Amino acid sequence: MPTDREYAYRVLERLRKAFPDTRIDLECNPFRGLILAILSQNTRDAYAYTAYKNLERMIGLSVEDIVRASEEAIAEAIKPAGLQREKARRIREAAKFIAKMGGSMEAILDLPLDEARAKLMEIEGVGEKTADVMLLFYGGKPTIPVDTHIRRVSARLGLVDKGVGYKKIRRGLESLYRSEDYMDVHLLLIALGRSFCKSRKPICGLCPVGDICPSKV
Ligand code: SF4
Repeated sequence: MPTDREYAYRVLERLRKAFPDTRIDLECNPFRGLILAILSQNTRDAYAYTAYKNLERMIGLSVEDIVRASEEAIAEAIKPAGLQREKARRIREAAKFIAKMGGSMEAILDLPLDEARAKLMEIEGVGEKTADVMLLFYGGKPTIPVDTHIRRVSARLGLVDKGVGYKKIRRGLESLYRSEDYMDVHLLLIALGRSFCKSRKPICGLCPVGDICPSKV
């Protein structure tokens, strides 16, 4: 019987082979990344990206641009992402928060991990997942953001217990993998969830980990 870590790495290696081109195109600027993360809440990436480009064209994406703009103007620009009023308010509050911190997100991202997470979560609309995305992608911090795909897939694979909360899933995954693999774990579990391990009808027959998954149907 493989140990939990051996099994976890067997899964990861399979996923690396199955999704060799999985990577993320990062915005180079963390504040822009935060805007995109807020726009991505409860919508598809494509709609969020359209809204993001509109915002760039109509208002600009710097902290100053956003602070200067009205909530109504931001909402108008980001309509394609849905929940535009709420998201406009969050984006503006985030910009005001960063402005108060000196105008740059690096001051937060350079803090020790737990402190940085707590500080990010003081921004309205930034929950654990968005904070961890910022910390992993832009701060290079050892954390695994957990989204809806990762929650479902990691439980089905038996990597974490079913029905546990965000923190337990994150910590469970972090305990199974080395920190240099956290980015791949995050991206590849999402890729598996989108392609095969779908919420309603998982495609177990074609799944790259079908022969080792305890939930195969
Ligand atoms: S075998 Fe089925 S349940 Fe297991 S990870 Fe693959 S798609 Fe999901």
